[in-house]
Amino acid sequence: MRPLEDYRGRRVVVLGLARSGVAAAKLFHKIGSEVVVNDRKPREQSPEAEELEALGISVICGGHPADLVSKDVALLVKNPGIPYSADPLVRAAELGVEIVTEVEVAGRLSRAPIIGITGSNGKTTTTTWTGELLAAAGLSPIVAGNIGRPLSDAAEEIEPNGWLVAELSSFQLKGTADFKPRIACLLNLAETHLDYHGTMDDYVASKAKLFANQTEEDTAVYNADDPICAQLSETFRAAKLPFSLASRLEKGVFVSPAYPLPGSGESENEAASSAERWIVYRPGDGSERRIVQVERLGIPGRHNAANALAAIAIALAAGAQPERLKEPLESFRGVEHRLEFVGTFGGVKYYNDSKATNPTATTMSVSSLPAPLILIAGGLDRGSDYMELLPFFRDRLQGIVLLGETREKIRKVAEAAGLTAVKVVEPVGDAADTLRLAVKEAAAMASPGDTVLLSPACASWDMFPSYEVRGRIFKESAHTL
Ligand code: ADP
Repeated sequence: MRPLEDYRGRRVVVLGLARSGVAAAKLFHKIGSEVVVNDRKPREQSPEAEELEALGISVICGGHPADLVSKDVALLVKNPGIPYSADPLVRAAELGVEIVTEVEVAGRLSRAPIIGITGSNGKTTTTTWTGELLAAAGLSPIVAGNIGRPLSDAAEEIEPNGWLVAELSSFQLKGTADFKPRIACLLNLAETHLDYHGTMDDYVASKAKLFANQTEEDTAVYNADDPICAQLSETFRAAKLPFSLASRLEKGVFVSPAYPLPGSGESENEAASSAERWIVYRPGDGSERRIVQVERLGIPGRHNAANALAAIAIALAAGAQPERLKEPLESFRGVEHRLEFVGTFGGVKYYNDSKATNPTATTMSVSSLPAPLILIAGGLDRGSDYMELLPFFRDRLQGIVLLGETREKIRKVAEAAGLTAVKVVEPVGDAADTLRLAVKEAAAMASPGDTVLLSPACASWDMFPSYEVRGRIFKESAHTL
């Protein structure tokens, strides 16, 4: 992408009126571009239109006009979720119009160095935690991106001596060109979002774009335990700072003594040994430094220990003093809908993990909480077979309650795992009623001392507008049991 001033007086099309589209439209309007915003949704569903029009920005709702994209369009800023097969994008590609996401624009705008965090699971947790570590270390971060606040909005505000901490999705990254984070972090790569990307290769290539423009002065933080991340790291030009739960690294951030690799067959008694497990930093000069005990981390589970390793590596790369990190590592309480403790009702603990929208995320939460567990799962069918859940169902669950489009598919996995307490909830009333009924069924299965966990392994859109709505209805239902 060209420098932002180059777009003064030129036509910029913004496709998609969500928060990031609004931010991009306002920004180019301020620069002096001729901005046209277009959204397929009807006007009644686009409350943002009015605000933009009041500024003098042209907004077209309810379809894509055929003449939206012509040769005189200097730039097309697309909403990350819009597929590249949408008509205006096909047309722009034919005409050679540059197509970017708002993240690329933010990269041009920010006067502060950028930290970019991506991965299949753990992005929001790690990004939030990183923000807290940097704040505690006095490094003036602003957290934005996929996490909520548009990145370009934060990029306008940030001072040069701060750090722009960006959660980035593969959809956002696919639309970048020159985006260059000072510190880039890849948490893990699981098979997900294939409905959008088409192939795993396209998904991995989108994530890899985060590292593509980095140079030796930059830092690449990555998960050395994840085979795809480790393989990808061979292409990184930046200084590498890996993290690992499973091995002592020459240079990087790791757990000592290490956890056995999942599937290695080695027994792991986390409860007995986590007290002795430390997170250790080795800068690569032969020295090493203990940062914090794993057991004292503010949020439970091995996956959250991995998220902590990543956040620590990033904070250290940004120049944080190691001794400033212990307190925010211990006091962090996580993010809503991610293994969130709801309360104890009738002697049963309830956890809301509504953000577990793919099977891998559910394996993490199911292994993080003490068995016996009663799981509530099911949701949008994206074509997975859910077989990866089988060993976790067998080893950790006492019962399962299923709802949503995938209820029958997951029932087969539960039965193959030998579970006998399996309840399939058929739709009753509206979606909220069905979920309330599922919570009641789970409560009926549970005895005092058990744990009920909502961790659906699926997106929510078959029943709810978002995972947040699903999680809140779950919490309300638990509170009113
Ligand atoms: P994202 O922003 O990538 O969706 P979140 O931090 O919101 O990730 O966590 C979503 C869910 O993914 C959590 O509820 C948890 O079940 C799971 N999860 C979190 N961190 C990890 C990790 N490092 N590896 C695998 N799963 C994870």
